Amino acid sequence: MNKFKFILLFCIILILSACSHPAAQKQLFAMDTYMNFNVKGKNSQEALNKICDEIFNLDIIFDRNEKSSELNTLNQSKISNVSDELLDIIQQSIDISEQTNGAFDITLAPVLDLWGFYNQNYKVPSDDELKLSLNKIGYKKIYITGNNISLDNTEIDLGGVAKGYAADKTIEILKEYNIESAIISLGGNVYALGNNDGKPWQVGICDPFNTEKNIGIVEVENKAVITSGVYQRNFNYEGKFYHHIIDPKTGLNPNNNISSVTVIGSNSTECDALSTAFMVMGIDESAKFLINRDDLGVIFITNTNDLYVTYNIKNYFITDNTVNFINE
Ligand code: AMP
Ligand code: MG
Repeated sequence: MNKFKFILLFCIILILSACSHPAAQKQLFAMDTYMNFNVKGKNSQEALNKICDEIFNLDIIFDRNEKSSELNTLNQSKISNVSDELLDIIQQSIDISEQTNGAFDITLAPVLDLWGFYNQNYKVPSDDELKLSLNKIGYKKIYITGNNISLDNTEIDLGGVAKGYAADKTIEILKEYNIESAIISLGGNVYALGNNDGKPWQVGICDPFNTEKNIGIVEVENKAVITSGVYQRNFNYEGKFYHHIIDPKTGLNPNNNISSVTVIGSNSTECDALSTAFMVMGIDESAKFLINRDDLGVIFITNTNDLYVTYNIKNYFITDNTVNFINE
């Protein structure tokens, strides 16, 4: 088990109590991460079987490193007729790119390849290499007509949004089976469906400086709790720390003081894309974005371990640390 997967296992504490309904649990490895599903209610096992099939199906579509995947076919041929799922995740991603002024951008693949984050063959690109690859970045290089997608000299990477999308699909299936209570964790992406025997679910927020501990918990029902953090994938080179979130404007790590961002909201796909985007945007720019989004709660942890939290979650974020409020 590599360090990344090991950390994820410890990072999220899902507190389950004894339950009055039949319960089913499942763990699996997909999308390069460990996933845990705890489902309560009649039909739990049937729902879990369908969820596993769906997750493996999405993994096969979205994995750009897998030669035969639909995404790799699109990246290589630059034009193809895609499945509804690939179309849907790409459309939702472009929507978030537009809302975040390109801080979130799935066409980062050519730059991510230079850094080696996908195959863990890490290196720091030269300025010339970056300049060449940056010419290939930009969500406006994706053209969509029906299910037909063409790419203008770019490639797509769905690493910043695929797990959130898979979580939304999982919740859809649970609802189809009339499941009212479940907690699922897809790597750092948690969704708490319903409640835990009448009490809110408790989801731990990882301390980025000691990933075996939580810096606090949130108490939630029917919410995604999604974290992006510098501790999830990183390397050191010549005494400098580098991590896997890249500013699409520079091809470099964002020039800010953020170590992790957690986004809490009802749509996992959106929360996943936004947690990555807010890592790039930093606190001030994200705070402006959030002025009209009272439906989202956000927790920023800085590289000096200070907490900046949107005021709207003050009643359900529990921590012993000092909290600075945003958009009070
Ligand atoms: P997450 O853990 O959801 O923040 O996703 C991180 C992954 O998203 C990285 O490993 C890259 O595959 C990809 N990524 C990095 N930076 C960006 C960005 N600015 N926009 C979109 N995807 C990104
Ligand atoms: Mg993300």
